[in-house]
Amino acid sequence: MSAVAPAVEHTDRTLREGAFGNATSLACRECGHRVDLGPFYACPECFGPLEVAYDFPAVTREDIEAGPRNIWRYKALLPVPTDIESSPNTEPGFTRLLEAKNLAAELGLTRLWVKDDSTNPTNSFKDRVVACALSAARELGAKVFACPSTGNLANAVAAAGARAGMKTVVFIPSNLEQPKQVNSAVFTANLVAVDGNYDDVNKLASEIAGEEDGWAFVNVNVRPFYAEGSKTLGYEIAEQLGWRLPDQIVIPVASGSQLTKVHKAFQELVKLGLVEDKPYRVFGAQAEGCSPVSVAYKAGVDAIRPVKPDTIAKSLAIGNPADGIYVLDVCRQTGGAVEDVTDDEIRAAIVLLARTEGIFTETAGGTTTAVLKKLVESGQLDPALETVIINTGHGLKTLDAVSGSVGPAATIAPTYSAFAATGLA
Ligand SMILES: *Cc1c(COP(=O)(O)O)cnc(C)c1O
Ligand SMILES: [Zn+2]
Repeated sequence: MSAVAPAVEHTDRTLREGAFGNATSLACRECGHRVDLGPFYACPECFGPLEVAYDFPAVTREDIEAGPRNIWRYKALLPVPTDIESSPNTEPGFTRLLEAKNLAAELGLTRLWVKDDSTNPTNSFKDRVVACALSAARELGAKVFACPSTGNLANAVAAAGARAGMKTVVFIPSNLEQPKQVNSAVFTANLVAVDGNYDDVNKLASEIAGEEDGWAFVNVNVRPFYAEGSKTLGYEIAEQLGWRLPDQIVIPVASGSQLTKVHKAFQELVKLGLVEDKPYRVFGAQAEGCSPVSVAYKAGVDAIRPVKPDTIAKSLAIGNPADGIYVLDVCRQTGGAVEDVTDDEIRAAIVLLARTEGIFTETAGGTTTAVLKKLVESGQLDPALETVIINTGHGLKTLDAVSGSVGPAATIAPTYSAFAATGLA
């Protein structure tokens, strides 16, 4: 950093009134200790993760329905100011919830929905969490907007930073898929490729966050605010089902944040009286080549043993998942499960979802779809109950995963007889 001007210690900055909406403090998930809202993520007492706590006013369905067709319709339930719509952001969310009748028939399910988050501004669910992190970074007076990423997060941070006119620096593993590199580099000149895996990149980011003032690392020092963005997936699913909760939901697990926050969102909707309380089961989906949470689930243990990822599902390749233990809690308490699938099953499921529903998902959605299939086949998921799966990213970002297994049925001369010979007529 430049030594000319004294660094602004953003932790000392006075927050403007209502900077975090109805959020009141950060609470430790382990011991309940509370700290003031700020760029903090670990409990000063026990090092447990901090989570945003609120004092919600009465919120009605009508209030929400009158809001914009993006995540800010739920702004009263997020750590963002009431004037959030006036700040440039990527305005993600309110993506389509599609009934998947063909896939349901194929798998023997009665009622199946796909929450399709591939249509967000940078084509993954990460735009949701980044929009909330950007608001926090702004309110905290951060000078740099940054992240370590497995790819999709880098895309989302780079785009949101560009809209916000902030200096943006994104760190990725150097072996990342080319489309994800280009999808970041097009938005920011400051893409840093690190020779190492995601966990190495994450460690480096924590070190930089400790050394430099005024850097908001979306998933490190403003992680509590970032994580809240995933709740909007849960709110939207319930609203789009006509203000109801589904019976079963299958969610991909990388750090585990999304899965735990969708559950938190369902709980909040019940507490606020916006949906009726009912039992629902939460299922986690991992790739076998990076399945620390699934392995712990199956072994019946609480501790997660970190792994070195080796899978085509790079967006889920977090070997040491921060929220893994909470994923175990949610899946066990709700009567769900955590399951994993092979890279071949992931590839096949990408094609299955595409050919049954016209939805091209990336490897993360392939993982979720393949896990859905496996859970139905093993009887862990009840085919008679209403089920939702989340498609978290777009297949154009991971073309390599299927480019070897799909292609032209025939290459022919431009004549009718050549076409007739293919048998496709
Ligand atoms: C980041 C990501 C996830 C999971 O995120 P966590 O909250 O870290 O578990 C799922 N799908 C895609 C495509 C992602 O990019
Ligand atoms: Zn604590």
